[in-house]
Amino acid sequence: MNVLVTGGSGYIGSHTVVELMTAGHEAIIVDDLSNSKECVVSRIASICGRKPSFYRINCTDAGKLARVFVENDIDAVIHFAGYKAVGESVTTPLAYYRNNIDSTLTLLEVMEAYGCKKLVFSSSATVYGPENPHPYREDMPAIQSASPYGWTKVMIERILTDYCTSKPDFCAVLLRYFNPIGSHTSGLLGDDPNGIPNNLMPYIARVAAGQLEKLTIFGNDYRTPDGTCQRDYLHVVDLAVGHLKALEYAQDHEGVEAFNLGTGKGISVLELVKAFETANSISLPYVIGPRRAGDLPAFWADASKAKNILGWEAKLSVEDMCRSAWSFASSS
Ligand code: NAD
Ligand code: UDP
Repeated sequence: MNVLVTGGSGYIGSHTVVELMTAGHEAIIVDDLSNSKECVVSRIASICGRKPSFYRINCTDAGKLARVFVENDIDAVIHFAGYKAVGESVTTPLAYYRNNIDSTLTLLEVMEAYGCKKLVFSSSATVYGPENPHPYREDMPAIQSASPYGWTKVMIERILTDYCTSKPDFCAVLLRYFNPIGSHTSGLLGDDPNGIPNNLMPYIARVAAGQLEKLTIFGNDYRTPDGTCQRDYLHVVDLAVGHLKALEYAQDHEGVEAFNLGTGKGISVLELVKAFETANSISLPYVIGPRRAGDLPAFWADASKAKNILGWEAKLSVEDMCRSAWSFASSS
């Protein structure tokens, strides 16, 4: 298959491109490099032995996106492109709504113009919002969110649902990711955000590398076993494999379908810090700080739907996640 991967030089996108190419597909990356670097493309090439096509294009540019469809016979699209920092979305909501919604609408219009009917979309566990009890199941109402970022995911899920109603032969697979961490075993790809990381693991990795002084744990007074927040951390390579399963599913299905991609287990911030220290024989300086606005105490996935229907389940351990994250951070 020829698969257009928007946001394909980003963290999850680059790992997914590797899995796609390893499985014999062609990957065509569209990325504006707003949160990634072009060297990722040659790193993918050195892992896979061949280079994916790369277009430095903003997905909101319909004309340039159309050119990609003209030059490549696109069979399916995986849509990663979007801004993803929860806190930043609170301070710059218009940028988030403009980029995330507009890029999706533009992509759908261009897909329609070129008869492309298979889409896998990067959604998030954030769509379950603060009201649903965990573990989250796909049949729970996904109509709330705690941030403008989260609302963009809720809105895009709605847009895709309405679009599938109007185009019964279109298939949109909504993948609701939990907390991807870790890196490709080569140490060449990983989570390397521009600026100071917002997410826990890249922050830990930069502290371990001595680039940041210490980790601040956002609150230890939650009603959880050790007082710190619990999340469902999964290895990014497992997550990437989930996209191939979703593409296979889309080939012989129509309509919209949501799947959680998580391990089904909650791990606390302190447990992850300890796991990183143990896996890498590193001592990690940290302090306990105040809670971060908008953080939920605990959530994880009910991952049974992906297992039963897609035949996907997370296989890699927390130790694998911590080792590979450090292998990337210490070599880049
Ligand atoms: P990332 O920032 O590493 O990758 C996103 C890529 O999209 C970047 O390379 C960026 O340059 C590009 N991009 C952004 N806007 C664009 C536009 N308009 N046109 C072209 N390229 C554009 O993020 P990631 O962690 O790989 O996340 C990928 C997707 O998964 C995002 O949609 C994110 O919201 C979603 N997601 C991520 C997580 C997570 O924890 N990382 C969790 C749930 C969902
Ligand atoms: N966290 C933390 N310190 C940091 C970054 C994150 O204590 O510097 C905590 C955060 O409060 C949350 C967990 O780590 O409980 C995961 O946060 P992240 O931003 O990685 O993912 P989220 O679940 O918020 O999408």
